[in-house]
Amino acid sequence: MGESDHIHLFCHRCGAQLHPGEGAFYVVRMEAFADPTPPNLDVDYLSGEMDISAEIERLIDQMKELSEQELKDQVYRRLTIHLCGECYSIWIENPAGG
Ligand SMILES: [Zn+2]
Repeated sequence: MGESDHIHLFCHRCGAQLHPGEGAFYVVRMEAFADPTPPNLDVDYLSGEMDISAEIERLIDQMKELSEQELKDQVYRRLTIHLCGECYSIWIENPAGG
């Protein structure tokens, strides 16, 4: 695995250089999904004066304007970050924090 000698990894949080093979850092993989629940049209909305089919057509037109990739990015993102041991122990206690 001589190739790994040429890879420079840095802690995503503090920027410290990480040294593969020393077991001193963590790889964090994250997946983010948009709310997968189908839209819930309530009765008031359906019985209102709004033209549902026109509204749906409008939404479809709106989506056509986005590229496929943009659309995917809005629905699903996956990313990998590296954290040094110190940052990891802080981050894992409060992953959603700043
Ligand atoms: Zn760090």
